[in-house]
Amino acid sequence: MASEEKIGAKQVVEIHYTLRDENGETIDSSREAEPLSYLHGEGQIVPGLEQALDGKAVGEEVRLTVKPEDGYGARDPQRIFDVPRDQFDFEVTPGDTVHAQMPNGAMVPLQIVEVGEEKVKVDGNHPLAGKILDFEVEVMSIRPATAEELSHGHAHGPGHDHH
Ligand code: ZN
Repeated sequence: MASEEKIGAKQVVEIHYTLRDENGETIDSSREAEPLSYLHGEGQIVPGLEQALDGKAVGEEVRLTVKPEDGYGARDPQRIFDVPRDQFDFEVTPGDTVHAQMPNGAMVPLQIVEVGEEKVKVDGNHPLAGKILDFEVEVMSIRPATAEELSHGHAHGPGHDHH
């Protein structure tokens, strides 16, 4: 029975994945940790991957290349901008990630690109924006989401810090 289950909306899916960039360098992998658990159909994972997993069964392996438009989007040059250095009351180094509060209260991660004497160049693009992503995924388990998960729009379970 369980093995005939197919991935679809309102299912919580566990996957193991390895993510590589277009040069074959590994960016991220779940293989040395717990599988990633997500609620299918809620945009918790990049659209290209979610689409490719639709209808798959436990044990199936999926290999796919996701273009930026189906991944983390294109890099937006407007999200790269200068901030006066005195806005930072702490030491910043290129490569660091800081969190800035937007006028609407949302916290946005900004990567420090360059630290000048008066200005700091920051980049608010997702680190994987503009990248072609190569995913190797194995479906580990599929189960119906609970009512609570559906109302939250995400999967609960091991590794989920409840709120
Ligand atoms: Zn929740």
